[in-house]
Amino acid sequence: MKTENENILKGIGAAPGIAVAKAFLYKKEKEEIADELVSDVEEALANLDIALEKSKKELRKIFSLAVDKLGEKRAAIFEAQIMILDDPILVTAIKERINKEKRIPEFIVNDEISKYTNLMNLSHEAFMKERSHDIEDIKNRIIRNLKKKKWKSRITSDVVVVTTTVSPSDTILFSRVNVKGYVTDFGGLTSHAAIVARSLNIPAVVGLHEATNRIKDGDLIIIDGFRGEVIINPDEEQHKIYDKKIERLHKQDVELDLMHGLQAETTDGREIQLLANLELTDEIEVILQSGAKGIGLVRTEQLFEEYEAFPDEEEQYNVYKIIAERIYPESVIIRSFDIGGDKVLPVDLKEPNPFLGWRGIRLMLDNPKMLKTQIRAILRASSHKNVKFMLPMIASICEVRSTKEIINECKAELKKEGKHFDNHMDVGIMIEVPSAAVLIKDFAEEVDFVSIGTNDLIQYLLAVDRGNEIVSSIYQEFHPSVVRTLNNIIQEGKKAKILVSMCGEMAADPVAVPLLVGFGIKSLSVSSSAIPLIKKVIRSLSYKELQPLVDECLALKTEKEINELLHKFYNSKLVNKIKNLYEA
Ligand code: PEP
Ligand code: MG
Repeated sequence: MKTENENILKGIGAAPGIAVAKAFLYKKEKEEIADELVSDVEEALANLDIALEKSKKELRKIFSLAVDKLGEKRAAIFEAQIMILDDPILVTAIKERINKEKRIPEFIVNDEISKYTNLMNLSHEAFMKERSHDIEDIKNRIIRNLKKKKWKSRITSDVVVVTTTVSPSDTILFSRVNVKGYVTDFGGLTSHAAIVARSLNIPAVVGLHEATNRIKDGDLIIIDGFRGEVIINPDEEQHKIYDKKIERLHKQDVELDLMHGLQAETTDGREIQLLANLELTDEIEVILQSGAKGIGLVRTEQLFEEYEAFPDEEEQYNVYKIIAERIYPESVIIRSFDIGGDKVLPVDLKEPNPFLGWRGIRLMLDNPKMLKTQIRAILRASSHKNVKFMLPMIASICEVRSTKEIINECKAELKKEGKHFDNHMDVGIMIEVPSAAVLIKDFAEEVDFVSIGTNDLIQYLLAVDRGNEIVSSIYQEFHPSVVRTLNNIIQEGKKAKILVSMCGEMAADPVAVPLLVGFGIKSLSVSSSAIPLIKKVIRSLSYKELQPLVDECLALKTEKEINELLHKFYNSKLVNKIKNLYEA
């Protein structure tokens, strides 16, 4: 092997798996616009139409979201932007120039719209200058959509995408074109993009800092999503090592298939409900094969990606109904749209602090029409009595009560319309904001179940951005405050006799599972790819024997000590039993 592994980059393993493929370097930060000629004018014009349409759709989404919250006046900016996109003089001028000059649409769009903004910037009126920012915004949106179109058509299925950052929608794009993996300069383990990658089974390594500098287009790379490593142009020996690892992984897949019918039960007979998180509707088939005992979290916000607009009641109903029917007789927890933060929308509202901003239930309660549409669709899908409804980002009991009022309104409407639904559909909340964790006892009286969202709970408890690799070392799931808070939630839930589940990524960490099971958690929801591993861990544990470990963790004062203790336990008691499994 090369000395000190000079061709190995180390980052954060965001989604497990190994892939060997050519690198496709995607530099999206650089909005440089090349002055290139097009070979096919018709195709270029068609691409322009698609980009204009896509830009309009995006703006409509933002407009309908913004109108309730920002008021007609401020939201009107977005409406004005849509009108500019429809302006026949501008669009015709751009098309005529593409036809005549045969230059790429990005170049013409930039050149043509910049004429206006340059003029406006020369004005002495503040209003004109402001408007020029709006127009600049549209220009960039169209160019971004044009580039994405081009990018999409250039990505082939056999590459690893190398880029600075990815958004959740980029990840979905990757899955649609079947890329082999992706590596990024920035990003953290529990960023939403990483979660999507895990559920789509695309190996990913993030937070490499210099990936886009060190890796060249066409370099052969090995991406190791287990170790968080990327090997650039591997030598013969490295190839050999990874060929063996890949072979071993194939063997493990066979072993995992054998676990399908086994219970997630400790050696002393304590059964844990092992559920799956669902990101995309297609994933239901993979979940059925994984041996999950139901679905513990449907992240419905992904529907915005799938539909590229707000899905209406019928569209949503059809999606929820298929999921509920396919998973029957097991049940499914459908979560209300958790938009905002690092999720799909509304990116363009440019909040200064999106994770502390207009997100989840806050945004939904401000958009009651949208919330009602979703609740009606979920209720209608609940007629087989296997659907539960969950609210994200709950920070106050008032939010629960307001939502329940809306649920009751929806029920009354549906009854009048003669539509079937489960009148006793369970309503639960995510515990992911510290205020809800503190008030768990009171919340437990208001709801039928809770599910702990550690991805957010940790970020809010420790004040550390879950997607920022610069602070990823202080994003500590074993911080004493996290560990004690989790224990408190589980104990209070037990006392109140409501189901406490966990659907954050911590539930899929084999080192954390002994602690969670030891606390007495009865339900874990993980990405379908993690089900066999977590099942194997649970089947290797004795609940009774875990109690000294639990007591010791609760008494320790630093994350370092708890981390060490749990790793020691994992290495001495578990590693042999689950050897080979995912430890490529
Ligand atoms: C969480 O916060 O742990 C969670 C499951 O929700 P999300 O990752 O979708 O924010
Ligand atoms: Mg969350």
